[in-house]
Amino acid sequence: MGKLVAPKHSAKWDEVRAAFEIYYQADDWLDNDTYEILLKSRIGSNQYPSSYPKKIQLLTYYGFIEYKEPKNKRSEKRITDLGKIFYEDLISGDKHEIWESIVSSLETTTFGRNNDGAPLSDSDIELPAVCIKAMLSLDGASLKEMTYVLYLLNEKGASFEDAIKEVKNARRQVKDVGDFTPPEYKKFNDNKPLKILRDWGDFLILSSDGKYNVNPAVVSEFQTRLEMLPTHNTFGTQETAKNDIDILDEDKYASAVRAFDPSALDTAIDISELNNRAPEPSGGDVKNTRYTTKAIIGAIVLKKHHYKCEYASLCGLDHETFLTKKKSPYMECHHLIPMKAQKDFEANLDREENIVPLCPVCHAAIHYGSQEVREKIVKALFENRKDSLENCEGHISISLEDLFRKYYQ
Ligand SMILES: [Zn+2]
Ligand SMILES: [Zn+2]
Repeated sequence: MGKLVAPKHSAKWDEVRAAFEIYYQADDWLDNDTYEILLKSRIGSNQYPSSYPKKIQLLTYYGFIEYKEPKNKRSEKRITDLGKIFYEDLISGDKHEIWESIVSSLETTTFGRNNDGAPLSDSDIELPAVCIKAMLSLDGASLKEMTYVLYLLNEKGASFEDAIKEVKNARRQVKDVGDFTPPEYKKFNDNKPLKILRDWGDFLILSSDGKYNVNPAVVSEFQTRLEMLPTHNTFGTQETAKNDIDILDEDKYASAVRAFDPSALDTAIDISELNNRAPEPSGGDVKNTRYTTKAIIGAIVLKKHHYKCEYASLCGLDHETFLTKKKSPYMECHHLIPMKAQKDFEANLDREENIVPLCPVCHAAIHYGSQEVREKIVKALFENRKDSLENCEGHISISLEDLFRKYYQ
């Protein structure tokens, strides 16, 4: 079920609050150097240099601070709208408001993946929600018991209900669940995201028998919302994430292509070097690496094809669009073997042979059409491009079936 990682920096709450205040006061993107200077002036400069950025790890994890460039540790960061509210809650000390903000964070944040507070995490499991629901179901749970539940869900694919049953069984038999949990999971026994929820308005309380529980006053106010928290981030499944990435990136790519002035583009210039460059990763995460695209290739492809929709041409038609501000017919580019497939190919996919001019209707259809519609368009385009893909320097070869099954489903 993927690698589950939690923030592990143990920051004292007064230090976290000092860091939070810096972002609250900046109320805009703040670079790291400035942040570190400001933080040192508040909490002293005698700590390990690497510990200053980590003071906001848990705030980031809970969605109160965000990164401008995801996954880049040195990225500029800023306080989120929810973060501003939460900071003011903390200053006012109004517990009901603090709890409301925490519950909102639990409802809206994805913890298992794409979370800059735990950038290496790539799991379907929503750690804080699982732990909180375990406390509710078990009338308080020890850190070891919650670790065991996380292990059963993430490694064994157990349902939440079955995992709770396992803990109850172990309790009946007076067995230590720690004995069933593999060593690599012991790190969750030091559950920093949970521990900080004690500092935040006593959202959680720790009883003398070592069990964590949700504050009864929180339960009486938020029970239904807490019980409804999803234990898994189903919307973050690998397939959806991959497709979203491609569509998001295509948008940016399209505006970069449009930025070229068609009258200034020389189709005679040799772009073979660009076509044959090595694929260049540009972020994303472990499973969904992104690769750079060079918009000039798309711009030249459009001009070479005289701004004609390739699918229309193959059908003996002409899909007319309109003239752009730069006085060329409006046309879009589509990577026939999508960029999300790059990790499966040695040769660069961002190349002339793989970029197809499409009118906006055909382009939308290839992404959002019914299975039949998508198949029809992909098939026609692929048959037209198959030979040039195979014969280009990259020798890109794939069957129509694989192309469709792997990248267009
Ligand atoms: Zn496209
Ligand atoms: Zn078209």
